[in-house]
Amino acid sequence: MDTITKPASKFRKKIVRKFPTVTGIGVFNCRKILGSDSWSQHAWGNALDIFGPRHTLARLAGWATGRFISRVWKVQTVIWQKQIWSYDWHRWEPYDGVAHTTHVHVDFRPRKTGVPPCAQ
Ligand SMILES: [Zn+2]
Repeated sequence: MDTITKPASKFRKKIVRKFPTVTGIGVFNCRKILGSDSWSQHAWGNALDIFGPRHTLARLAGWATGRFISRVWKVQTVIWQKQIWSYDWHRWEPYDGVAHTTHVHVDFRPRKTGVPPCAQ
C-alpha cells in the first residue's frame, strides 16, 4: 500500500512538474525523528524528502515557504541547510537536528500526532 497523505501527494506532483531537475523524492518511512521521542511525519506519509542539485533545492525551499504557496499547498514545515521554517512563525530559525544539507524536508497540515498506524 502506498502510504501518502493527500497534501503530500499533490505537492509531490507539483514539485515534479515545477522543478524538473529534482532527482528523487522520499515519502514513507516508519521512524521517529532522530534524537527525539516524536514520530516523524514520514511515518504517516505526510512528509517529502526532496533531492536534487543544490541550487534547485535552495530555490525550492524559498518557493515552498512563500506566503501564498505555503497556504495553498498546506506546507507546515520546511527544513533545509540547518534551518527550519514553520507555517506557525513564517520565518527561518536555526535547526539543531539532522543538518539537511543534501535534501529539503517538507511536511504538511494537518500535522499528524500520536502513534502512526505503521507502529501499531
Ligand atoms: Zn524528511
